[in-house]
Parts: sequence; C-alpha cells; structure tokens
Amino acid sequence: MHLRKRVLVTGGAGFLGSHLCEKLLLEGCDVICADNFYTGSKRNIIHLLNNPYFELLRHDITFPLFLEVDEIYNLACPASPVHYQNDPVQTTKVNVHGSINMLGLAKRTKAKILQASTSEVYGDPTVHPQTEVYWGNVNCIGPRSCYDEGKRCAETLFFDYHRQHKLRIKVARIFNTYGPRMHPNDGRVVSNFIMQALRGEPITIYGEGTQTRSFCYADDLISGLISLMNSPDNFTGPVNLGNPVEFTILDLALKVIELTGSESKIIFKSLPQDDPKQRKPDITIAKDLLAWQPEIALGDGLKNTIEYFRNIIEEV
Ligand code: NAD
Ligand code: UDP
Repeated sequence: MHLRKRVLVTGGAGFLGSHLCEKLLLEGCDVICADNFYTGSKRNIIHLLNNPYFELLRHDITFPLFLEVDEIYNLACPASPVHYQNDPVQTTKVNVHGSINMLGLAKRTKAKILQASTSEVYGDPTVHPQTEVYWGNVNCIGPRSCYDEGKRCAETLFFDYHRQHKLRIKVARIFNTYGPRMHPNDGRVVSNFIMQALRGEPITIYGEGTQTRSFCYADDLISGLISLMNSPDNFTGPVNLGNPVEFTILDLALKVIELTGSESKIIFKSLPQDDPKQRKPDITIAKDLLAWQPEIALGDGLKNTIEYFRNIIEEV
C-alpha cells in the first residue's frame, strides 16, 4: 500500500524539471528524478538531495527504465536551439526512443503520463495566435527539425498508445518559458540578454527584433503542468500552456536593459534559419478546462531571473 504518489520526472535536473520536482515534493509526492545531465545539472536539485522522498537516477531515457510509478512527467530533452542542434540525432532519439521507453513504462505500470511538448510543433505559424487545432508549418529537413519533428512524433506516439493501449495521456504544448535555473549559456533569448546585460556586453538581437514571443514564468508553467496531470482522464490535451502576452524581441531587450540598469548597447546579427516570426498561445482550452492562466507579469518574472543570474555570474 503506497500512501504517497510515486512520480517520475524525466529531465528532472533541468530548468523546468527541477522546479517541478520541488513543487511535487511540497505536494507530498514521492519523486524520482531521472536525468543524464546532458543540459541539466546537480546544482538545480542539490537542495532536494537530503529529502528522503526525493531520489536521483543518472539515466538516459533512450534506454529502457524499470521502476514502479503512478505518474510520469516526460520532460527529458534539451530545449534551447543551441543545445538541441548540438547533437541533432540524439535530439530525435530522446523524443522518439525516449518517449517509446517512457510510454512502455507507463503501459506496464498503468501510470498516467504527461508529455512536455512544445509550441515548436506549430513551426513558423501561419495562424496567429496559435490554437491547438492548428496543424503547424514545420520544415522537416532544417536545423530545427530534429526538435520540431521529434516532438511531433512524440505526440503521435502518445496518441497512438492512448488509442491502441488505452494509456492515460496528457500532452502540454509549452510556449517560451523562463526563470531561475535556466542554463546561463544555453543561447535562449532570455538567458542570453540577461547575461549580456549583467556583463555589460552587447545585447545580440537576431534579425531586426520584430519577431515576437510570449514569455511565461516558470512557476506559472509548473502549476499548469500539475493541473493538467490532475485533470479528468478523458482530457488528454493537447493543450497550450504559456503566457499570451506577446512581445517583440526588441521589446524584451529594452526591458532587460532597463531592469538591469545596464550600459549594454544593442547589436543586430543575422536571423537563424527557420526562426519563427511570431508566436503567441491561445490559452482558451487551458482557461476553460484547467482553470489555469499565468499570473506573473514579465517585469516581475524578469526581476527574479535577473537576481538568480546575478548570484551565479561569478561561477559561470
Ligand atoms: P533543459 O534543457 O533545462 O532540461 C532538459 C533536461 O532533460 C535536462 O536536465 C537534460 O539533462 C535532460 N535530458 C536530456 N536528454 C536526456 C536523456 N536522453 N535522458 C535523460 N535526461 C535527459 O530544458 P527545459 O527548458 O527545462 O525543458 C524541459 C522540457 O520542456 C523539454 O522537453 C522541452 O522540450 C520542454 N519545453 C520547454 C520550453 C521552455 O521554454 N523552457 C518550451 C517548450 C517545451
Ligand atoms: N534571439 C535573439 N538573440 C539571442 C537569442 C535569441 O534575438 O541572443 C531570438 C531568436 O532568434 C528568436 C527569439 O529570440 O527569434 C527566441 O529565441 P530562443 O532561442 O529563446 O527560443 P525559440 O523561441 O526560437 O525556440
């Protein structure tokens, strides 16, 4: 008889995974974090290691894993374009082989399983804002494809396991999320701009900075993931989770300069191939069916994130 829910978080030593492990422990779960430390780090979870209800496994999910669990949050996958393009074959593998292994584990243990999918399944969208019924505009042979198509195939696998094996699945399409414990060198826009501003280096805008993104603070996103996992079994998603307030990348650069009080100048570099021009979630489904919406404004979230990077800047 298990009194505590046993929850596996793959990618639990990463940016979002570490916040999720922390929150699940606070909610009284028995948490197993499986991570191969490809982009994650022990620093993110070091404060959890003394908790008897937290277990850390060094494990690559492209290999099978045998455990007894009640719920699985499948987050393992590098998320920043720089990291996922560094070893693109492994990126596809973690999404395809990794998902098959975790779905197989869910099938054997009858666990409920949640997939951390992404707004990248919409590619460079021709529909704005993006709704879950939109099928996307994705290049299948470009430098982002290992991630975009990997995540799309993972969604296919989740829905086929659901239809074929009656698995209880949940698919979250996560839009750009930021906050403390982002990797300082991961090349994502929020971490890049803050690190550049704090070091007094030029802020690198790719393209003209007119492309848009909608930034969600980590705490908001984590509460969305947990609400989704706890939603009725007949709700599978996919559901968009993100903050619908849209900014241009130039807006973001100016905000970071203002909040850090930096003297950094803005410089313009070439836009990477297939960089989406606009992105903003329609979160009607999350609002209606999960009673979820983000609470934290960009300015407040950025202040916390800047504080985090100020504290670790000496070490990186
Ligand atoms: P992250 O890179 O900080 O975390 C990913 C974690 O997965 C890391 O700890 C890494 O070591 C681990 N990992 C990678 N390959 C693995 C493997 N083969 N086996 C075990 N562990 C492995 O990224 P994040 O921002 O925390 O993203 C977490 C998840 O959320 C990812 O699946 C990502 O695609 C998804 N997501 C994130 C965002 C975002 O803006 N942060 C947006 C959309 C989707
Ligand atoms: N970007 C930028 N400067 C940087 C890093 C990123 O202008 O130093 C841009 C990037 O081209 C994209 C947006 O910021 O248009 C968001 O990039 P990120 O890598 O954070 O995530 P994406 O949403 O593209 O996956």
